[in-house]
Amino acid sequence: MIETKDVHKSFGTLEVLKGIDLRIDKGEVVSIVGPSGAGKTTLLQILGTLSRPTSGEVMIDGTPVQMLSDKQISKFRNTKIGFVFQFHHLLPEFTAMENVCIPGYIARRDRTDVERQARELLEMLGMEHRTEHKPAELSGGEQQRVAIARALINSPAVLLADEPSGNLDTKNKEEIHKLFFTLRDTLGQTVVIVTHDEQLARMSDREIMMVDGWIRP
Ligand code: ATP
Repeated sequence: MIETKDVHKSFGTLEVLKGIDLRIDKGEVVSIVGPSGAGKTTLLQILGTLSRPTSGEVMIDGTPVQMLSDKQISKFRNTKIGFVFQFHHLLPEFTAMENVCIPGYIARRDRTDVERQARELLEMLGMEHRTEHKPAELSGGEQQRVAIARALINSPAVLLADEPSGNLDTKNKEEIHKLFFTLRDTLGQTVVIVTHDEQLARMSDREIMMVDGWIRP
């Protein structure tokens, strides 16, 4: 599903990733943990094709992404990768339902299909009673649920989350964490999460510990 071979990434003279070999199977919920500056976000961005490695190979859902042109990569990203960040970046002038549908419209899918899928996702995430609300009318936890539904609208091969609960109180945090496992169990969703939350890391199928640009064995 996801495989990296000897991935290196440097910014100028700073080598941030020093040879990452990684394999994540379909339907796994994996947490990437480790101290600040270890390279976790840099690795997640490479897995999400937002950034290219300096060297090495990245295979996602059978595609060697280093072989793709910038134009092909952006199409690949829009359909194969879902992102959730600490701050949800919902569009304030649109309802929850519209926010979820927008990436489906951008992918030029059939509107009825997109709307049906958006309703199903919002229901799965416990948001069926909030579909017509705008982000400002939703709690932080509800906004993050909408952001997760939006990330899933094009049925991505992998959901990548960077500190997805970093901005939430304990109750909402735990609810968002549980959702990742619901997605695994109901959709067979592969989920990769960068987190400082030890509880979430322990709940995951696997913890990957990064230290100073390496994965600790
Ligand atoms: P944190 O837990 O604090 O988010 P992290 O493990 O996610 O840390 P990264 O964000 O991957 O760490 O950053 C690793 C190192 O790479 C840091 O020293 C950071 O300053 C550096 N870095 C990241 N992105 C860039 C960039 N675009 N240009 C230059 N340096 C960068």
